[in-house]
Amino acid sequence: MKGLVRISHSLEWRLMLVSVTTALVALAGAGGIVVWRMHHLLLVVAERGHLAEVTQFHEAVESYQQQLPPLEALQLAVNQYSLPNRWIRVTLPGEAIRIESDTYHPPEFSRPPSLMPQVEHHRGHTLIRCGQPIALADQTVARVETITDVTRSARVYQVFLGTLVISGGGSVLLVAVIGLFGVRRSLRPLRKISTLSSQVSADTLQEARLVLGDPPTEMADLAEAFNDMLNRLSRAWEHERHLLSTISHELRTPLSIVQGYLESTLRRGENLNEIQLENLAIAQEECRRIIRMLKDLLDLARVESGSIHLQLQPLCLNEFMKELGSLAQHLGENPVSVELPAPILSVKADRDRLKQVVLNLITNAIRYSDNHAPITLYLRRQEDRALLQVEDRGIGIPEEKLPFIFQRFYSVSEARSRSQGGVGLGLAISKALVEQMRGQITVKSTVGAGSTFTILLPISELE
Ligand code: ADP
Repeated sequence: MKGLVRISHSLEWRLMLVSVTTALVALAGAGGIVVWRMHHLLLVVAERGHLAEVTQFHEAVESYQQQLPPLEALQLAVNQYSLPNRWIRVTLPGEAIRIESDTYHPPEFSRPPSLMPQVEHHRGHTLIRCGQPIALADQTVARVETITDVTRSARVYQVFLGTLVISGGGSVLLVAVIGLFGVRRSLRPLRKISTLSSQVSADTLQEARLVLGDPPTEMADLAEAFNDMLNRLSRAWEHERHLLSTISHELRTPLSIVQGYLESTLRRGENLNEIQLENLAIAQEECRRIIRMLKDLLDLARVESGSIHLQLQPLCLNEFMKELGSLAQHLGENPVSVELPAPILSVKADRDRLKQVVLNLITNAIRYSDNHAPITLYLRRQEDRALLQVEDRGIGIPEEKLPFIFQRFYSVSEARSRSQGGVGLGLAISKALVEQMRGQITVKSTVGAGSTFTILLPISELE
């Protein structure tokens, strides 16, 4: 139902409707005129012809009566004006005598004929029929009934109508098909713009451009404006990144000095009272947090701008995961297990940076789980990629929040993340690093059941 509503609101559907309606109206107009002309030619002209023949019959009877008695004059005129498709019958007063054609025998009518010729459809025949009085020389008035059978002309007319309807329907169908094709073709650039808009991200802004092959002028203008907008966005994004890295860099040094002062004051704080010590400790912790955040921000800016040069070297993941497993045992109280495959899996990666990523995932798993909830590290092969997983049985992430957790400064629960020392940059950095190693990072999670973060890296053989 929703799909139907969507289709009926689409531009494609509306343009199609306009073109088909236009074709229908045009065809109906032209067809109507042709049908009217044809009807006029075949039946109206036949009616008029019939009337002319009846008039001539009357004149003939009148002239024959000058030499012949009325009955003979009538017989002569009936014989002369009868045709294989025309029937004449003269009924004399009192209905006693009837003179009628024997060239054609029409079906019987129950209704009397009208005075003026009229088309009547009767038992599969199309007939023009009329009945008029005729004055005879002996002062009596007879009745003349005439019928012309125009069934053949009517059939021609019907066949013509049928052909017109079929060819009209065919033309409308053709217009619909050609219209659909044309409309689809013309709207292709719009679809490209919508696909590109939905795919473009901060990372791909620089390369993402709309390329259309021979588009209509309006679409070419739209594509140009769209590409200009992407250029402006890309420049603004670059500027923001640069600004961020400069600010982080500039703030780090003075903050490190402040932290140093706080540390030494706390160390030599014998003459400070408890409240002062507590306040200084809070200031020191906040200072540490901000320095860590600035370091993360700098890291992120460097990775995103590509100014961090990764040392991609062959790395045996089995050894690597074992090492991280043992390291993780000391990071928290959670039991950590490692599941490794029998065959050795190796990738080309920057060892330190990959360690940073997996450690960040393990730290998060510890942060967002109860103290004794188990954490498992998996290593598996998936087709031509190595799959590294960090699985926890922690608080999980609501489904609607999942698409955002790799964004900078995003926290599902600000309070919990902050209380655990998080600033919401770890996953953004991890994603940028993994992508620099030509890999992918994804997450699956269920609230209350836990989360599984997966890193996929292309396998490469150890040299
Ligand atoms: P933070 O430093 O705040 O942990 P991250 O970028 O590492 O920042 O993570 C972003 C957010 O994703 C976190 O604030 C947290 O809400 C959520 N998150 C990350 N890992 C997990 C996990 N294992 N379990 C539950 N939530 C998680």
